[in-house]
Amino acid sequence: MIPYGRQEVTEADIQAVTDVLRSPRLTQGPAVERFEKAVADYCGARHGIAVSSATAGLHLACLALRLGPGDRLWTVPTTYVATANCALYCGADIDFVDIHPRTLNMDPVALEQKLEQAAARGMLPRIVIPVHLSGHPCDMETIRGLSHRFGFRVIEDASHAMGSRGQAGIIGGCHHSDMTVFSFHPVKVVTSGEGGVITTNRDDLAESLRRLRNQGITRDPRHMNGAGEGPWFYQQIGLGYNYRLSDIHAALGASQMARVETYVRRRNELARRYDADLDGLPVMPQARPPLGRSSFHLYVIRVNPRESPRSRDDAFKEMLESGIGVQVHFIPVHTQPVYRRLGFNWGDFPQAEAYYREAMTLPLFPAMTDEEQQHTVHTLRHSLG
Ligand SMILES: *Cc1c(COP(=O)(O)O)cnc(C)c1O
Repeated sequence: MIPYGRQEVTEADIQAVTDVLRSPRLTQGPAVERFEKAVADYCGARHGIAVSSATAGLHLACLALRLGPGDRLWTVPTTYVATANCALYCGADIDFVDIHPRTLNMDPVALEQKLEQAAARGMLPRIVIPVHLSGHPCDMETIRGLSHRFGFRVIEDASHAMGSRGQAGIIGGCHHSDMTVFSFHPVKVVTSGEGGVITTNRDDLAESLRRLRNQGITRDPRHMNGAGEGPWFYQQIGLGYNYRLSDIHAALGASQMARVETYVRRRNELARRYDADLDGLPVMPQARPPLGRSSFHLYVIRVNPRESPRSRDDAFKEMLESGIGVQVHFIPVHTQPVYRRLGFNWGDFPQAEAYYREAMTLPLFPAMTDEEQQHTVHTLRHSLG
């Protein structure tokens, strides 16, 4: 089986992890700070805050912006459920903005129209979360412009976008957002086993995030109510969680961060070969960003139902039967039963739904061999018809 993605763990990674296991601190030790610094420095952000997953990171990012009951959060339907779930964790209302059929990212025109309608009804969102699907950067300049005009906050879901470059530089630099959230799950560009990092340039948000990931506790007398009582003293000044990342995970993440550039270059190389080899087939790859660089966490195509003799569903099954681990990213979130119960339905976001019916993610990972890629293309050509 050729998987759609596969992590790479080197001897250096294993050494970094065993070093932690032999050390006195398995959690809240120096590896977490090293990991945070590696991510923040790479992205050019002031702060990096490590958490147990990107899901936890999205939740805390919303809490740091004080999202709560009565507030609205908007994201795209074409994402993993985590991007929308964070609104529900906070008791806020969720809504979606449709995607652009070529970029497969949030459509800035659809966003503007929806904002104008929401403004007229006094129903503007407090937070908008664009998702850099497969690492292709969203049009953040336009989204930031709209955020100034309509007064919402922006969190980037960069779970796919470690190593991507947008209009203003490396994603995670937060040039056009308040915070950026990365995932270090093993299928992503670099991994810590499980884990997430939030980057931000705002000191106040970094401070809140650090407190929220550790039960709402502070040891800083400047943030306490009243005076401290001694060296043992801490105060819980708000409700927080245990969303800490262990040093075991952080050591793996920090060690892997050294290879982001190598991985993203190799992923782009494989993507270029797919572009060339798929030419002439009844498929349309996700449109590349006009500027910058994609991490190519995923290589996503649409099977054109008018040109292809065989359906996406049939081709997908044949690929799997032939040992090619294709995937679909993503089932539109608003069609999931939990979201249907909130009143969403098929037909609400036609672009995301049309894409879903045609979508196929082809295998792409740094260790993929030329033979594996040729075999994938050959099998795709055969299964399409
Ligand atoms: C993987 C993923 C997440 C969640 O990441 P975890 O680290 O597994 O919590 C969130 N959003 C998107 C778009 C993802 O692909």
